[in-house]
Amino acid sequence: YGPSVEDSSAVRDWLTRRGPFGHFINGKFTKPGQTFASADPATGDKLAQITQGTPEDVADAVRAAKKAQNGWAKLSGSERARYLYAIARHVQKRERFLSVLETLDNGKPIRESRDIDIPLVARHFYHHAGWAELRDEEFPDHTPLGVCGQIIPWNFPLLMMAWKIAPALAAGNTVVLKPAEYTSLTALAFAEICAEVGLPDGVVNIVTGDGATGAAIVEAEVDKIAFTGSTEVGRAIAETLAGTGKKLTLELGGKSPFVVMDDADLDAAVEGVVDSIWFNQGQVCCAGSRILVAEAVAERFETLLAARMDKLRVGLPLDKSTDVGAIVDPVQKDRIQAICRAATDAGAELVGGQPGEGCFIAPGYLRNIAPANPGMEQEIFGPIATLSTFRTADEAVELANNTRYGLAGSVWSESATVATDLASRIKAGVIWINCANMFDAAAPFGGYRESGFGREGGVAGMLDYLAGPKVKTKNEPAPQTPQ
Ligand code: NAD
Repeated sequence: YGPSVEDSSAVRDWLTRRGPFGHFINGKFTKPGQTFASADPATGDKLAQITQGTPEDVADAVRAAKKAQNGWAKLSGSERARYLYAIARHVQKRERFLSVLETLDNGKPIRESRDIDIPLVARHFYHHAGWAELRDEEFPDHTPLGVCGQIIPWNFPLLMMAWKIAPALAAGNTVVLKPAEYTSLTALAFAEICAEVGLPDGVVNIVTGDGATGAAIVEAEVDKIAFTGSTEVGRAIAETLAGTGKKLTLELGGKSPFVVMDDADLDAAVEGVVDSIWFNQGQVCCAGSRILVAEAVAERFETLLAARMDKLRVGLPLDKSTDVGAIVDPVQKDRIQAICRAATDAGAELVGGQPGEGCFIAPGYLRNIAPANPGMEQEIFGPIATLSTFRTADEAVELANNTRYGLAGSVWSESATVATDLASRIKAGVIWINCANMFDAAAPFGGYRESGFGREGGVAGMLDYLAGPKVKTKNEPAPQTPQ
């Protein structure tokens, strides 16, 4: 490894010293139970053994969260804020450690975990510390929900955890969170931070395990389930919870349009594609995975796109010059390839996108693709976009909305009138204009249709963790159109 490879020795020492890992319940790590291995997807090397959570483990965690909840909710907002500020500062102090751990466990390039994931985690806790302070004053008629069960995916492990834990705690709830089975390590490192800052026992509980552990949380005595993951699992959770009175928010899949108008700055739009579908190996729920480009500029755009794609460096995630790292797990790599095969069998042409050894797939896109092609309809959740053309703005809107999802969208035009008109007609929770995948803790994020419901981030996100009279927020989403 050359000098551009980030040093991972401190993280490896920690893994050896601390593993095998139990759960974090009531402020302490439990003894490891039956364990499974978590591996580095870039090399296949085992990183640590992690405990498979049983329904009894989940019940212990829920009991601890319940016991802690009253005391936590009774603290003044500024006292709760002090803990959230302390967590944010400790995340910043351990930024390098957490970035390396995230990259080893997930396969994402170190540049991304260092410059995007971990700074946004800290930002999320700072932002919600502010809401903890303001809550009593701004929403005096609201009360916390109680114990929240939270289930997260593997694509932004620590960031998704922050999106869940920060607003829940700010609002006065306690939590039982399950990280994804592929990527539990940063959540366990975060548990150490909770202990370090002296967070009262039971306020944050982390139970590791697979889907069965997640299902046990859904069925446990919790007051809310907040889930981020696939539409299939989200649907199953909604069915289980129907009629139970438990509150539910779902952040699910997407197949977001990326619309390039004929007056767009094409170089900027190509960079937008890089940030959109080739960021995090395309494992991004709001990735601009359907590129729609005006016919008049399509040829020029594709030439620029293909040239830029060839320059992306696929490689070792810990190498600071890597643009595209490893897919999280061989199972996900197989899924991506299966959808690409179905797409090409149905007549599309794949440019790039070749699989490498292990968990690597080069960036690519599908061209000559019909609207009903499986590659156009299914979420690939990998570094492969689709590329198709339109003639008029109306046709662009029609194609953009031709999906069962509605999470995000991106519009590229040099005319503010054109861009805002399109943005208002595309049915999605977030629309970016002349940019893509921009996140901020103050901006609510969430979907329509099969992308889920509820919002995370901003005041709307915190209100989803409170009970009380309906509040009209500035950023409140429009009511859902019945499908
Ligand atoms: P997944 O639904 O299989 O897993 C997500 C989490 O749910 C994991 O922690 C998993 O252990 C748990 N789980 C699995 N089965 C469960 C069950 N029956 N009951 C309760 N929990 C269960 O998703 P995945 O394939 O690992 O992740 C990729 C999907 O997640 C993609 O579809 C992507 O779009 C979606 N996603 C959405 C967002 C968003 O914010 N909208 C963010 C990231 C990922």
